[in-house]
Amino acid sequence: MSVNPIQPGMSLVEFLGRFGTEPQCAEAIRQARWPEGFRCPRCGAAEHYVVGHGQRKLFQCNACRHQTSLTAGSVMEHSKLPLTKWLLAIYLISQAKTGLSALAMKRQLGVSCLPHRVAAASQDQQASAGRTLPVADGLMAAAALQHDLTLITRNTKDFAGLGLSLVNPWKE
Ligand SMILES: [Zn+2]
Repeated sequence: MSVNPIQPGMSLVEFLGRFGTEPQCAEAIRQARWPEGFRCPRCGAAEHYVVGHGQRKLFQCNACRHQTSLTAGSVMEHSKLPLTKWLLAIYLISQAKTGLSALAMKRQLGVSCLPHRVAAASQDQQASAGRTLPVADGLMAAAALQHDLTLITRNTKDFAGLGLSLVNPWKE
């Protein structure tokens, strides 16, 4: 799942205006994930209701009762980090011409959740696989490698060959 709602070339002021709060980030991810409205990842139905709130908000399908969250299928799902920090990390990395060091990341975000060397290792693997991923997908790949997670994605072909464990629950 690609959930990068950040347009290239956005200024920091513009970024903070649009993605400065949790509700703004959640809404942006919701729109990136379901541009035409909620669709159950299991059965495809649109009818649903919402349980809980904030980052724990769950979308339950009326038809099959499957529950999913905004970040299900991305590494953000297993993160306690607020969405504002995830999106800021993605923004900072996408703006940095030569990449962002772990130290710079720690200084900017107050966390060192995305070790640069892991991102670099992921980039090496991407390079040896003959391509590069979009920034958000690269981050997901890096974090999945770091934490030995299975990446749940519809786009298994984009991640193939990177040494990741992949699952595509949408595949028939
Ligand atoms: Zn369903």
